[in-house]
Amino acid sequence: MENRPNRGRVVLVGGGPGDPGLITVAGLEAVRSADVVVTDRLAPLGVLHGLGCEIVDVGKIPRGRTTPQEEINRILVAHAAAGKRVVRLKGGDTFVFGRGGEELEACVAAGIPVDVIPGVTSAIAGPALAGIPVTHRGLSQGFTVVSGHVPPGDPRSTLDWAALARSGTDLVLLMAVATLPAITATLITEGLDAATPAATVADATLPTQRVVRADLATIAERIAEACIASPAITVIGKVAGFDPGSETTGV
Ligand code: SAH
Repeated sequence: MENRPNRGRVVLVGGGPGDPGLITVAGLEAVRSADVVVTDRLAPLGVLHGLGCEIVDVGKIPRGRTTPQEEINRILVAHAAAGKRVVRLKGGDTFVFGRGGEELEACVAAGIPVDVIPGVTSAIAGPALAGIPVTHRGLSQGFTVVSGHVPPGDPRSTLDWAALARSGTDLVLLMAVATLPAITATLITEGLDAATPAATVADATLPTQRVVRADLATIAERIAEACIASPAITVIGKVAGFDPGSETTGV
């Protein structure tokens, strides 16, 4: 027994934006061969149906129950050290506001073998599911993905909103439902045209998916009226007004 190698390891799997069909083949394979899956609120939980593995839910609910990151790291390391094949299943891509980097560091520091399987990020898939291409020839030569978790002017914010307003790229805002009024007001103050198209996609890929389209000046008001809640992505830029036209819609 003592000589048997410890097969314990951690795989950080990006599960895509929610629909079980949008996890990668490699991600699904890792989940299916796991002894333990440590899941998140936004992970595609549908892929776990019928699996016999142990499931540890450390999902974080906005302003609700949370498991501190240190505790999640400890859980991953402890199961792998005990010889388990551990999958850390996250929503979207694990390295896009997913704290995957911290989990990777924790595993490496503990001497646990760790692999990363990228996922389809909601930053791109969310707009796509609303028919919004994040780049489009003639409309946008780039896009910038930022967190709206803390609003402009907050001492914890490290973003230069004036530079973002001037960037000429589409802005893709994650975690920005509560902060959208402050963000849109700041962008307008910093010179971004109030008439710039904007769209918010909530619950992308889920049966509850909703899309609200407006402009920079009114999008925050429109999503409040529509009672849009997290998770939602807001796109600001010409692509948010993208209309493929009747010749390409197939209707
Ligand atoms: N790692 C994830 C992002 C985690 S941060 C990814 O790559 O997609 C959480 C934020 O992601 C949410 O507040 C929301 O802005 C966005 N998000 C995640 N899933 C979403 C979904 N299905 N629909 C809309 N937004 C989503």
